[in-house]
Amino acid sequence: MKQFFEINRINTLYSVYVTAFLDNYYPRIVVIIGHTKNGFYKGGFPVRLRSMTGILIIGGGIAGLSAAAALSSEAKVTLLEAEPHLGFHASGRSAAIYLSEYGNGVVRKLNHASKPELDHIDGGVLTKRGMLLLARPHERQDFLDEMRPFEMHEVSMAEARGLVPILHPVNTAFAAFRDNVYDLDADRLLQYYTKTARRNGAEIVTGSKVSGISKTSKGWEVLAGQTDHNADILINASGAWVDEIARMAGIAPLGFQPFRRSMARIPAPGGHDVSTWPFMDAVNERWYGKPDAGGWIVSPFDEHRMNPHDAWADDMVLAEGLERYSEMVTEPVTRLQSSWAGLRTFAPDRSLVVGADVADPSFYWLAGQGGYGFQTAPAASGLVADLILGRVPELGDDVVEALSPGRF
Ligand SMILES: Cc1cc2nc3c(=O)[nH]c(=O)nc-3n(C[C@H](O)[C@H](O)[C@H](O)COP(=O)(O)OP(=O)(O)OC[C@H]3O[C@@H](n4cnc5c(N)ncnc54)[C@H](O)[C@@H]3O)c2cc1C
Repeated sequence: MKQFFEINRINTLYSVYVTAFLDNYYPRIVVIIGHTKNGFYKGGFPVRLRSMTGILIIGGGIAGLSAAAALSSEAKVTLLEAEPHLGFHASGRSAAIYLSEYGNGVVRKLNHASKPELDHIDGGVLTKRGMLLLARPHERQDFLDEMRPFEMHEVSMAEARGLVPILHPVNTAFAAFRDNVYDLDADRLLQYYTKTARRNGAEIVTGSKVSGISKTSKGWEVLAGQTDHNADILINASGAWVDEIARMAGIAPLGFQPFRRSMARIPAPGGHDVSTWPFMDAVNERWYGKPDAGGWIVSPFDEHRMNPHDAWADDMVLAEGLERYSEMVTEPVTRLQSSWAGLRTFAPDRSLVVGADVADPSFYWLAGQGGYGFQTAPAASGLVADLILGRVPELGDDVVEALSPGRF
């Protein structure tokens, strides 16, 4: 009380004090919020709140937000994100492409299952872009091997240059095309899921890093900042940090590995209008490129093992990737406008992991989105919702089994 009166005295002239018994919170100790000249002040007593929720999601990327949207109409959901903004890590750094034949067989099933919702959400988040697979003169066999799984058809170099006039006359010797590859509006999808979850009553808390997780007789107790959250079910959607979160909860990690992928933004090659150019992919994963807001982005297709962290692009990796790109086009790279990198996190078998942990059925994994987190989000979040809510999964048993944490 002495502390309270001291603060009260300091702020008397400018402050309005509110005792906040916030909705859904059971404060162990009264919270004092004071309004001062400089904004809101919070203090007076040690602040440690208790928040009750049915389902607690850790991670405010595409995985966590899509799950929050899928579950919040049926359950009380709280989502905790460590960073001040949602979509700060991998989900803020993607190439934003939908390619149904990308990933292994199980991932492809998720891609296909997600397409109707991606076509429908918010008026549709996919726009046709097309894809051109390119190869150098000595890469004929690699070209044929890659073309088939992508279900592409070979086109003449004249046709390819009709689409992209900067293809090198000697160094780019083979091209294949498919038109049903799409730009995916990643920002709009994140916003849609965030708005849907909030409209359904979910609480989404940013700047709230989970630092402790313990199992109690009543469920989970999760400490984030100064708040203890209690939940019946925990969903681990923490991207590159999923194994760390599992360890924190006393759950055995599954061996996820984050890999860095970088992007370089350069001016539109030769000043061309690139808006209608297709997504371009050089065989043997040498580089890929696509138009982006009037400019052009090129990825060196890098895949370097990393520990979970806030990734950034390595200059040498970018320079080598841009060198490989430059070899196959006629327009030189004149300058780098910006660059970034993100972590693509994979399970050992490169399929997503969706479902309850074998040792604790109240701990759910929604992890290992790798390079497909956006294009698989509707189906993966739908599955985690089906499993938690006890509905018959819309995805077939074979897919559910192939995604289950129990497969390891
Ligand atoms: C360069 C690049 C290109 C890509 N291109 C595509 C593409 O074209 N199409 C596609 O579908 N996918 C693409 N991807 C993949 C896609 O971006 C990822 O699969 C997806 O963003 C992963 O989402 P996530 O929610 O699992 O992870 P994240 O977006 O990383 O979200 C996890 C969140 O958990 C939070 N978190 C971690 N620890 C804690 C903690 N202790 N407390 C609270 N919060 C915590 C993190 O802060 C983070 O925000 C690409 C990725 C990269 C890097």
